[in-house]
Amino acid sequence: MPRCTHQGCQKEYDESDNVDGSCSYHPGGPVFHEGLKSWSCCQNTNKPVLEFDAFMALPPCTKGVHSSAPPPKPTTTNTSSSSTAPANNANHVVTSSNGVETYGPPPVAAPSSSSVTAPVPAAAPPAPVVIEEDDLSIPVPDGARCKRLACGAVWEGESVSRGTGDKAICRFHPQSAIFHEGSKGYLCCKRRVLEFDEFMKIEGCTTGHHLFVGPKRDETKEELVTCRLDHYQTPLQIHVSAFAKGADKERSKIIFETQQLHLDLFLPSNKRITRSVTLYGPIDPSTSSFRILGTKVEMILQKPNAASWPLLELPPAGSELPPGYALTFGVSGRTGTVGGKEIVLAPEELARRAR
Ligand SMILES: [Zn+2]
Ligand SMILES: [Zn+2]
Ligand SMILES: [Zn+2]
Ligand SMILES: [Zn+2]
Repeated sequence: MPRCTHQGCQKEYDESDNVDGSCSYHPGGPVFHEGLKSWSCCQNTNKPVLEFDAFMALPPCTKGVHSSAPPPKPTTTNTSSSSTAPANNANHVVTSSNGVETYGPPPVAAPSSSSVTAPVPAAAPPAPVVIEEDDLSIPVPDGARCKRLACGAVWEGESVSRGTGDKAICRFHPQSAIFHEGSKGYLCCKRRVLEFDEFMKIEGCTTGHHLFVGPKRDETKEELVTCRLDHYQTPLQIHVSAFAKGADKERSKIIFETQQLHLDLFLPSNKRITRSVTLYGPIDPSTSSFRILGTKVEMILQKPNAASWPLLELPPAGSELPPGYALTFGVSGRTGTVGGKEIVLAPEELARRAR
């Protein structure tokens, strides 16, 4: 049977039974912009999301017939806000060619001649990657698909999907997808591609067992869950929303440290979120604040100096970062003094080195 190439469908279909309405899909292409992901066909109804998994779960917006024609190409937009900043404004925004925004006074010299880039130093401890396994006592529903990234194998019964044959082998990516300025790949391996359908074809770098149902959850026990973190920033503040519904105001805790954010949120039905985020740059814990609302927790992180963070969270050491994550170093010094120049580290860089 042919496989439908429509984005959001990709099911196998029977040409003789391909009636109008049998395919649910996105006629547009994926749009990735500054970490936000959406479909060009339904950006207003399906709000852009940050996580790749959430993007893949956005409901298809259009019904039609299945097709085996090649899918459309993704579009990546990169608008520079520097052209709209008034001249001589202290909060002049500079967007370099790699898309990293920096705030500060207007540069005297052209940024290209006075800046060098350096890789992110290995300071943060690497986060261990936990690979979940199926609890073999949980029955697998018919038609279940492997939940691991880049696998998608369909359950074909105990003897096939958990046997010794090739169909029992899962080839997957243990770490999440990473998108930056059009470059797409997975944190766990080095391959980077530009096209979305090339990305969908990056073969798993790790082999193991499929994950159809996951480990057993004890209903009476507290269940640790995760939540989506969204953020946007101004030169001096990072506004972070943790999408945790109904967090208990009495028991939940949010702790700010100079370069850490700790969440301990108690949710209804014995669910709990504990999460520590190593921040990209330093904050002032005493002036940072939070509010626990019905649908989310809002936090305002105060930056000590005007700076733009390309990411909220400092990536684990050893992560293969695409170009654009590199830090920009400014060079200051008196003009005409030979050897009088010194490298000035960005504040977030200084904080990292001090740790
Ligand atoms: Zn759509
Ligand atoms: Zn289809
Ligand atoms: Zn991988
Ligand atoms: Zn699998």
